[in-house]
Amino acid sequence: MFSYDTQQLPMILSLDLGGRPVEWIPWQDAVCLYVRDQVAWTAGESSFVIHGGFNELLRQQSEISINSIIAIRGARPRVEYSHIPSLNNRELFRRDRHTCLYCGQQFATSELTRDHVVPAALGGHDSWENVVTACKPCNQNKGCRSPEMAAMPLLALPYAPSRIEYLILANRRILADQMAFLEAQAPRRDRRF
Ligand SMILES: [Zn+2]
Repeated sequence: MFSYDTQQLPMILSLDLGGRPVEWIPWQDAVCLYVRDQVAWTAGESSFVIHGGFNELLRQQSEISINSIIAIRGARPRVEYSHIPSLNNRELFRRDRHTCLYCGQQFATSELTRDHVVPAALGGHDSWENVVTACKPCNQNKGCRSPEMAAMPLLALPYAPSRIEYLILANRRILADQMAFLEAQAPRRDRRF
């Protein structure tokens, strides 16, 4: 119905009626929600005009404006707000800003690994609180030892991201207004880098 192939539009941040972030949705889904009149209110400073087909009856091209942040009637998060998001390398590397937490250097994704702070062989779990981003040489150097055993102190403590933080980590192209909205609700972390 609507087409907008000249530009790659950013993801739209959907909220529940109380203003709690729910998930990122593609603009096509946002258009459907507008058409079905399910957008209760909007909170973003940016909006995008999507042009549709030519309407013979009205003799004009149809268009619809979608906001960067929309509150949706009946929106429910797929998981509980307290739920810890599942661990994967993409979000792990983004949590640690592509920085090796042993040597402090930034690397491309292909040069990074998931390091278990307490190695699995020593009873460490594969969980957000026990994994950090490490470059390949540091990971190899540390081997099957704890940071203390290897004399390789961590530059920052690993943590499990909250739902809000995970939303921030999961989208590479967050708009400034969407980031401001999410950061206002995210827990404060004191990290040195
Ligand atoms: Zn390193």
